[in-house]
Amino acid sequence: MSEILERYGASLMNAFGPPKLALVRGEGAHVWDDQGREYVDLLGGIAVNTLGHGHPAVVEALGTQVRTLGHVSNFFTSPQQVELAERLVALMTPADVEARVFFSNSGAEANEAALKLTRLTGRSHVVAMQDAFHGRTMGSLALTSKAAYREPFEPLPGDVTWVPFGDAEALAAAVTDATAAVVIEPLQGEAGVNEASSAYLAAARETTERHGALLWFDEVQSGMGRTGHWLASHASGVVPDLVTLAKGLGGGMPIGATIGLGRAATLFQPGNHGTTFGGNPLSCAVALAVLDTLERDGLLARAAQVGERLRSALAQDPRVTEVRGQGVLVGLTLAQEKAPAVVAAAQDAGWIINATGPDRVRLAPPLVLTDADVEAFVAAWPGLLDAAGVEPAAGTAP
Ligand SMILES: *Cc1c(COP(=O)(O)O)cnc(C)c1O
Repeated sequence: MSEILERYGASLMNAFGPPKLALVRGEGAHVWDDQGREYVDLLGGIAVNTLGHGHPAVVEALGTQVRTLGHVSNFFTSPQQVELAERLVALMTPADVEARVFFSNSGAEANEAALKLTRLTGRSHVVAMQDAFHGRTMGSLALTSKAAYREPFEPLPGDVTWVPFGDAEALAAAVTDATAAVVIEPLQGEAGVNEASSAYLAAARETTERHGALLWFDEVQSGMGRTGHWLASHASGVVPDLVTLAKGLGGGMPIGATIGLGRAATLFQPGNHGTTFGGNPLSCAVALAVLDTLERDGLLARAAQVGERLRSALAQDPRVTEVRGQGVLVGLTLAQEKAPAVVAAAQDAGWIINATGPDRVRLAPPLVLTDADVEAFVAAWPGLLDAAGVEPAAGTAP
């Protein structure tokens, strides 16, 4: 038994339940625990470790920047902060639309900033999706529909309507001239990897435009190249008014970004919002190294290719009833509600994967996952389902 895991409960709040492992080292898509066991990390710190662990570009950027200038507060700026904002605007927004960035430290904070910004339209009503996940601060939680997350903390900031994800008619019925914004994850992560169709995103654009409401895409999990595009919504061609980013942006450094397009670019005025750490030279330098590496090594195309291979190969097993997602955000539905048992069997066999629900497994590996690791996991998959006792759905040919 791990001594670290034994000490955990006496010093850390029990907010997450007992940790599954105590990890001590990582290299590429591989990590090691304090017992010396090796794992292939197919969760990537929940879609964060875009470049895996210990990537030379991240190590170099971090070391150089921390020796040069680490933190300055937002009384000041730095070349890294300005360059990162320019690069995000260039990569994520159309050239003919004005856009501006606000930096923070996490997904919840990126969404918190966006939510505050929507209030500056003079409206307060927000329409969000059932099963959406936007974070755990009071504001981001206010947009999250799941009762178990919300109820202990109510009252939360109000005036939120939830509609079924993907139902354009329900959305059109919920949005009024008093609606400040509609918030959508174009590819829902925590809900188990659910895709919004391009037609749905286009309908959301049309509905919000008709009522003068902002369209806000939460791409905290789906953004930064994971889907094979810089944003999952790029595949649809729909241009939103707000985009929030975090997870993969810093490749492991905590950083969030709220991008405002068009009129949303200029709603924040001095005094409206703030952060001490947000956008400091250290996190921005690392995010720039992540962007450079993704571009230089063609990792968006690689994400699309690896995702294709994983989805088609893992779906060969008749005990997988559905595969979802884009690129290396992969959702697998099992014939029975045994996803947690599959995750446990995988960990025993040296694979880190995750269950988003009783019958849904999620993979969000680093974009640098090697073919050897992909093929080894594909080969191991049927045995993991065996070990967890998953059986083919009734009526399926063996
Ligand atoms: C993870 C996530 C968040 C919250 O990000 P944190 O960094 O955990 O605060 C918000 N939105 C989406 C879509 C996420 O996946």
